[in-house]
Order: sequence, then C-alpha cells, then structure tokens
Amino acid sequence: KSMGIALVGLGRYSTNQLAPALQETENCHLAGIVTGSPSKAEVWKSKYNIPEGNVYNYDNFDEIANNNDIDIVYVVLPIAFHAEFTIRAAEAKKHVICEKPMATTAEEAQRMVDACNANGVKLAIGYRLHFEPFNKRVMELGQNKIFGKVKSIKAADSSDMTGGSLDVWRLDKERAGGGPLMDLGIYCVQGAVYTMGKKPIAVKAEFGEITHPAYFRDVEQSVKWEMEFEDGVVAECETSYADPEGKKLLSAEAENGWWKLDPAYSYEGKEGETSEGKMDFPNVYEQAIQMDSQAESFSKNQESIVPGEMGVRDMKIIMAIYESARNNGERVEIQY
Ligand code: NAD
Repeated sequence: KSMGIALVGLGRYSTNQLAPALQETENCHLAGIVTGSPSKAEVWKSKYNIPEGNVYNYDNFDEIANNNDIDIVYVVLPIAFHAEFTIRAAEAKKHVICEKPMATTAEEAQRMVDACNANGVKLAIGYRLHFEPFNKRVMELGQNKIFGKVKSIKAADSSDMTGGSLDVWRLDKERAGGGPLMDLGIYCVQGAVYTMGKKPIAVKAEFGEITHPAYFRDVEQSVKWEMEFEDGVVAECETSYADPEGKKLLSAEAENGWWKLDPAYSYEGKEGETSEGKMDFPNVYEQAIQMDSQAESFSKNQESIVPGEMGVRDMKIIMAIYESARNNGERVEIQY
C-alpha cells in the first residue's frame, strides 16, 4: 500500500521539489499539508486534490494522530522548528522524515531520535544524495577502496546570499541555528564521511572574515575546516554564503587514482570524473527515490539507510566544527 505523506511547511523545497517528486513516487503519495498560510492551503488543495480534512495548521497539527490517510510526516520547516514538529509527529504516532540539518544542536537531535523510539515510529533525514548514482559511486569508490585507500578529500559547498533579502530565516541564528555550515557545509561533512565510510575523529576550523556585515550580523559568513579520519586522512572543507563562484565540489585522491564530482550536491546537472574517465550516470529524480525508499523501509518497520542516528552523528561533527572555530582553530576531538 502506498503511504500517505503530509508535508509540514510549504516553502520553496516543498513547493518546487518535494510535492512534484511525490507525483512520481510509487510507495508514497502527497496526502496532507501542514501550513500557517490559509491562502497556500487553498492553492495546494486544488492543485494536488487534497481533501479539507487533511489540511492542518501549526496549532491543530496534533489532531493528525486521528488521520488514517497520513502515515508519514515530512518536516520541511526552518531548522529551529525541526525538533518540535518531529516530536509532535512522533507523539501522534506518525513516522517522520526530517529535512537537513536535523536540528540546531546535537542534544536536540538526540531528543528527536528518543521521541521516535519511545513512540514506536521511525525517523529518517532528507539526505537525498544517498539515493543518487554519482554520490553512490563515490561511496563505492571510497569505501570499497576501488582505487586503493583514500589519502585525502576536498569538499566545498557555497552560495551567494549577499544580493538578496536581509529578512530571511537562513541569516537569523534563532531560526537557522547557524549559517552556511548548517545549511550547506553539512553536505561536505556528509560527503567526506560517506567517501570514507567512517566517522571523523577530530576537526579544526576557522571562521572567514565578514565582508558583508549587513548580512552576517548573526550567523557566520564562511567557515573552512579540516576533518581528521583514522590513519591521518584529512578532508579539507569550506562553505560560504558570500561566494559568487558557488562551489559544489566533492573530490578525493586515493593510492591508485582520483575522483571528483562537480557539481556534487545540486539537484540536477551533476557531473563526475575519475582518473579513468568521465562518470556516465543519468540524472535521476533523487527526492522521489529518497521518499520511495524511506516509505518502503517504514512500511517494513525497518530503519532508513539515512536514519535519525545519522543526523545526530552529523550534528555532533558540526558542533565540534563550531567549537573549534570559536577557539581559533583548536583541534577538537568529536565525542560520539
Ligand atoms: P523556505 O524559507 O522556502 O520555506 C520555509 C517554510 O517554513 C515556509 O513555508 C515558511 O512559511 C514556513 N515557516 C513557518 N514558520 C516560519 C518562521 N518562523 N520563519 C520562517 N519560515 C517559517 O525554506 P526551504 O528552502 O524550503 O527550507 C526548509 C527546510 O528544507 C530547511 O530545513 C532546509 O535546510 C531544507 N532544505 C533541504 C534541501 C535539500 O536539498 N534536502 C533543499 C532546500 C531546503
């Protein structure tokens, strides 16, 4: 049976990626919406044929417990609200998919995992790149040592927010938890970890200079960091909200070869190359594959391949990066 998904938060990602992807999925479908905006509710109801009874707002959301059309709640809100809505969904006995980054702190992320366990529901993170052929190939190349052991990694994910509005949650620490490290740098953390198939031991980080103070009153403008793995393997990473180049890189040097995805993290147009030539994979609808896989796991009462625990791990790494950056690059060992 196809599982019903309710999207919580009808912003850009829900509107432009998830709802269209849910028209292509086989194991799940768009069954409900949770929104603070009555006018958006009207548009979505008619566009996607959603009955009035499957429309909730942030206040009456808990009544979703009584709705048998909805099996999965997908939290697509600004980061600071992920924990609240994940926990409320778990208490309503719904499985949860939560967008990245999972939470604003590792403690909050752990509480989300605990709430899902206590209520007997599954939690997965919206880590779409695990369902996409270029990044899956990187996991194989690195983890299966196809070109020998990995010796070093480079990862960069940056954008340019400095031409846009100042009034956005991504620039507000209270709602975003942090700046580009939370939003984009998490892809570099993920990329390095899935290249290695291992957790990093320690990190060293530095904040970049603030050259656009009007935008970065609250969150960092950029960060550069190193993640240290066993055997001295180092991933050099960077993220920024003020980079006109907009980097999207994941590359590695191994004993007998190298590989590079560029762009690695965008929804479309990924490209990859190894020391043996161009990678040849189709661009797929990764959000559709992601949700189909997660719904299938949930229906079998199994963990997703990107479970809540993976989100907790990544929050611990990110918090160690912030700690190191606040302490001028001091080496911080990560406690898992
Ligand atoms: P957005 O700003 O476009 O949408 C946010 C939604 O939350 C809006 O509908 C807004 O009305 C609602 N909202 C409720 N309370 C709010 C408040 N107090 N302040 C601001 N908005 C509030 O953001 P988005 O780009 O859709 O991102 C939402 C989530 O999805 C984030 O966690 C983000 O990291 C994640 N995301 C993931 C991907 C991915 O590739 N996996 C891509 C984009 C966004």
